[in-house]
Amino acid sequence: MKEYYDVIVVGTGIAGLNTCINLDKNLKVLLLAKDTLSTTNTSLAQGGIATARDAADVKLHIEDTLKAGKYHNDSKAVKIMVENSFKSIKSIMDIGVVFDKSNSHLHFTREGGHSTNRILHVKDKTGRYISKSMFEAISLNDNIDIYDHTTVLDILVRSGACTGVVLKIGSETRIINSKIVMFASGGIGGLFKSSTNQAILRGEGIGIALKNNVSLKDMAFIQFHPTALFDGQTGNRKFLITEALRGEGAILYNVNGDRFVDELSPRDIVCDSIRKQTKETGYVLLDISFKEKNFILKRFPLVYSRCLEQGIDITKEPIPVFPAQHYMMGGIKIDTYCRTNLSNFYASGETACTGVHGKNRLASNSLLEGLVFSRRACDDINARIKEIKMPGRETKAVNNDFYLEFDPGALVIEEIKRRTDCYNDEFQ
Ligand SMILES: Cc1cc2nc3c(=O)[nH]c(=O)nc-3n(C[C@H](O)[C@H](O)[C@H](O)COP(=O)(O)OP(=O)(O)OC[C@H]3O[C@@H](n4cnc5c(N)ncnc54)[C@H](O)[C@@H]3O)c2cc1C
Repeated sequence: MKEYYDVIVVGTGIAGLNTCINLDKNLKVLLLAKDTLSTTNTSLAQGGIATARDAADVKLHIEDTLKAGKYHNDSKAVKIMVENSFKSIKSIMDIGVVFDKSNSHLHFTREGGHSTNRILHVKDKTGRYISKSMFEAISLNDNIDIYDHTTVLDILVRSGACTGVVLKIGSETRIINSKIVMFASGGIGGLFKSSTNQAILRGEGIGIALKNNVSLKDMAFIQFHPTALFDGQTGNRKFLITEALRGEGAILYNVNGDRFVDELSPRDIVCDSIRKQTKETGYVLLDISFKEKNFILKRFPLVYSRCLEQGIDITKEPIPVFPAQHYMMGGIKIDTYCRTNLSNFYASGETACTGVHGKNRLASNSLLEGLVFSRRACDDINARIKEIKMPGRETKAVNNDFYLEFDPGALVIEEIKRRTDCYNDEFQ
């Protein structure tokens, strides 16, 4: 690892990888991941990525996004995301992502809150395939140094601008200087008792921003997914039963065999309805077993095999499910070019908040958001970077004792509790 880079990108999910793909190839870039490169929420995404199908659908996709978000969304950001949706998805098809087709046309599926079929997917492993193609694309760029198992502990701030990061690699704490830092450090699920997220994702990017007086936004808005696989335990990652099952007709019913909600309502409505049913049992049942076995095996191979490991054959019986923390709508406040209120410090993806999701994210809009806005960040960075001087060497020594104690995730919990008391019982 060098001592100076033009850009440091923190995170190897869709937002971080797309940043690396779109940065000028002449820039020296450092890409970091806290765990393995593929321990990301992106690699877990099953359902797919939403897109306006044509000009007529742009208005409807915008309206569905605003309605799910309870009109708390930043409507300018929503418009930018939807208007750029198909173009952005085309950019990942160009680097090798092959979405599922039906009769040689792209297959669009549907999820809760969408008024039409507009979700592209690769079986039920969409995120994994997107990540694979993106890694292949950046492996062609020799301007990018990539380090896994490297944790960013802090950012450096001098004269009102971000000038690099403090990181931990092995047992060593180091300072790396840069013109620009981009946080694409994902969500906060690891702070919760039950979450569908990778357990390592503890909102560290958001906590570090908060420590350095970077503005946050919408920290009270946390999404629970209605259908995580029930295993009766707390603390471990919950396997997600993709909403696309309901999009393909799966039915929810309570343990008495009664239906109780429109399965394709937005997530918060389905969650609230499930919670009312789960007081005694802890779960409700999701059934797709009435569909053709071959269809289920082909369309949902991951859900099928993962449930089978837990002794549930989804082609024959219903799946016990319950709501678990899933997504952070809020985060580091950014504009539509991913700029924060701290110069040369950018944020993108789940760790950031454009306001695009409002109070409740519409299904499959998250991968899309990561894609569209990280690309715009690169347009801004590529245009500005020549004017930014490389910061001189940081002269302050790292305060190792401070970083032994500092837990950015704890700051995030404090901030959420300051904004709302809705989730007090849900934290680890
Ligand atoms: C099970 C599941 C299914 C989902 N399905 C869908 C779906 O079908 N469609 C959809 O649109 N969305 C879906 N989502 C949401 C979506 O996957 C995520 O919101 C999105 O992938 C986040 O991407 P990201 O690039 O912001 O972060 P991530 O992909 O989560 O990556 C975060 C990165 O940050 C790094 N990092 C974190 N902290 C540090 C640190 N301190 N130092 C160094 N590195 C750090 C991590 O190592 C990781 O590389 C799903 C989420 C889950 C959990």
